[in-house]
Amino acid sequence: MAQTDYTIFEILQMDACTGCSLCADVCPAVSATEDGKLSGVYRINELRRIMRSRTGLLQKFFGKQALSQELLKPFSDTVFRCTLCGRCQQICPSGIRLKDLWLSLRQDLVHCEAYPQKVDMIGENLAESHNVFDEDNEARAEWVEDMPDAPDHGYIKDQADVVYFTGCVSAYFPMAQTIPMALVEILDAARVDFTLLGEDEWCCGFPMLGAGLRDQVKDLIDHNLEAVRAKGAKKVVFSCPSCYQMWREHYPKEFEIYHVTQFLNELITSGQLALNELSLTVTYHDPCDLGRGSGEYEAPRQIIRSIPGVELVEMVHNSENCLCCGGGGNLEMIDAGLSSDIAKAKIGEVLQTGAQTVVTACQQCVRTMTTYARRNKAAIEVMDITQLVQKALAGKDRPGIG
Ligand code: SF4
Ligand code: SF4
Repeated sequence: MAQTDYTIFEILQMDACTGCSLCADVCPAVSATEDGKLSGVYRINELRRIMRSRTGLLQKFFGKQALSQELLKPFSDTVFRCTLCGRCQQICPSGIRLKDLWLSLRQDLVHCEAYPQKVDMIGENLAESHNVFDEDNEARAEWVEDMPDAPDHGYIKDQADVVYFTGCVSAYFPMAQTIPMALVEILDAARVDFTLLGEDEWCCGFPMLGAGLRDQVKDLIDHNLEAVRAKGAKKVVFSCPSCYQMWREHYPKEFEIYHVTQFLNELITSGQLALNELSLTVTYHDPCDLGRGSGEYEAPRQIIRSIPGVELVEMVHNSENCLCCGGGGNLEMIDAGLSSDIAKAKIGEVLQTGAQTVVTACQQCVRTMTTYARRNKAAIEVMDITQLVQKALAGKDRPGIG
């Protein structure tokens, strides 16, 4: 392990941990497994112990033994069983930026070759295919062909004011493709001059960060920046909160960037989008990377409230305290069972509200909650906010796509 994988700030912050265990109390992975080794407090204690063994007397006397794979592998198994939901960071009274620390720790473990095998798959897929599913990247906008009224240009223009960056999950996963289908229809209705990047869109790089492969994101970032520049666009819109957060935190500030909830809220407020009445009671699930990760809680709620006839009922845990759906941090690839157990707690709280529909603003949350609800026959409809707006555009009696 190498100290250089951490910033000085992260190293200093580790000592601010008082051991209060509040991070364990709110951790969805700990709640689902009752295993304290998945908690932030355990992880930070282990990390401090490892750091000491690396630099102090232990290292001098025991050398490499103190950092053997035997010690690191079981620790690594706990580190990667985390959704990177950020609830631990949000509650930590010492203000430790735990989510950043978990990303640096994953990178550190990758450098030590103590990591789950799936990490190699993520790295290879992205390096070779430029998308997380190892699909043909030329097929990134193939979902447009399934739209009955798609224009001849297939939403890929040479130049446009706005680029809609779809993200890997929405581009390739059939259950999520209804989201970009809904969004392009909405942008057309609002007469927004937009384009997709098509095969020139590469993964934003967020799965690489989550896998501990921070060293490898630069190519993806450089490529995507160049692709947006080539369109002459000033604005980039994301329906994926992780892509949005990645661009917000790791890309140079060259374009105006918006999560779709912010962009649509502006279109509604400015009168460019008129929404019809729907008769629906909904609850709203804050995606971790949009809410705690990017601080956007209001835009989606304003959109929901702007649709006549839609009633919003909040869950017990909402906004900054919202429970994770189980789909973040590459957890589904690392431990699908744990991801599903976390989704169970989420859907349980959704059902308590009595809402007909849970609306969210993330294709991965839609996938995770829908999969759990279908498998377990939970009486709840799961919908992305773009699909809700599409329904409101169509009006009460006309179904939207999806
Ligand atoms: S909440 Fe913060 S201070 Fe408390 S145990 Fe967790 S990391 Fe340490
Ligand atoms: S990021 Fe979420 S899942 Fe990971 S340790 Fe923190 S609270 Fe637990």
